[in-house]
Amino acid sequence: MSHLTEMTSWAVDLIGVDKSYGRDIHALRGVNVQVRQGEVFGLLGPNGAGKSTLVKIMMTVVKPDKVAGTILGRPIGHLKKKGVMGYLPEVTRFPGYLTARQVLDYYARLARVSVVDRRRCIPDLMERVGLSHRWHDVKCSKFSKGMLRRLGLAQALVNDPELIVLDEPTDGLDPIGRRDVRELLTELRSMGKTIFLNSHLLSEIEMVCDRVAILNHGLVARQGTLTELTEHTVEYHVRVSGDLSKLSAEIGEMGGTIRDGMIVLSEHDVGKLNGLIDLVRSRNMLIESATPHRFSLEDVFVQILGADAKGLKTVDSEQTSPVVARAVGS
Ligand code: ADP
Repeated sequence: MSHLTEMTSWAVDLIGVDKSYGRDIHALRGVNVQVRQGEVFGLLGPNGAGKSTLVKIMMTVVKPDKVAGTILGRPIGHLKKKGVMGYLPEVTRFPGYLTARQVLDYYARLARVSVVDRRRCIPDLMERVGLSHRWHDVKCSKFSKGMLRRLGLAQALVNDPELIVLDEPTDGLDPIGRRDVRELLTELRSMGKTIFLNSHLLSEIEMVCDRVAILNHGLVARQGTLTELTEHTVEYHVRVSGDLSKLSAEIGEMGGTIRDGMIVLSEHDVGKLNGLIDLVRSRNMLIESATPHRFSLEDVFVQILGADAKGLKTVDSEQTSPVVARAVGS
């Protein structure tokens, strides 16, 4: 029984996904990803890491060179299971001569949603993604990028899917649109849906995801809950009144360093911390503060990706990421 429970608890269980484009680009190099049913899973990585390729393979838009495992308990491309998946591609394009309502009706018919359900759910869905009543019958050639993204989200939900795969869902949205999407994702999770979210926005991932995989150069660098990714990364900052420079050799011997005029101990070792404090006090200097600093997701990324972290967006033009705010404030 426990074996069965284990087997059925994965919404996505992909092993060894491999994909090259031509001879030169090895986009995915044996990627393993596991997503539990009912969780919001975030795939994060810099541009070019292979995130969209993985999502497109899951949705059978791109053919992998190699893959094993299952989605909703069946191999990739299983028709019935595809029918209970929703997909928001990286770029959404709809025929400009159709209205929002007609676009959704068209996709719902493709997904074999009954006429009764279409009439009932489409207006609801448009409201849920923030397309207000006055836009329902407007041709989507008149829509802004943000509104097309909202329409794309509604399209991804039109068949009431079990598994929702969203590729950069907030791309082109303003801060209010992003908040709306986060609220929608939270609501979908509370309804028991599984969400696979692909994003290069740290703040987005940190605010909504239960578990995260970090993809870099086509490989999963880390995978786990946010706590698992950050729990062993604590350092202590000790502020002291007085000149530390004459103690630098001794501080170094005790495992510390001097950074920005304070002592930094880059490990979770209370014994060493107390040793450093004793050293400072034995030289008649006063301790102003000693604070643990838990690494944020951003710190972990920077550590993992090194120079590649440049492709990760931590701050967008209008909104400061809470990741950054917390790191600065701590
Ligand atoms: P991400 O979504 O993380 O930005 P992608 O999956 O789009 O990454 O791209 C991974 C790599 O594969 C990049 O080097 C990209 O240039 C390349 N790539 C993606 N799609 C194609 C394609 N259709 N043809 C050739 N190369 C591609």
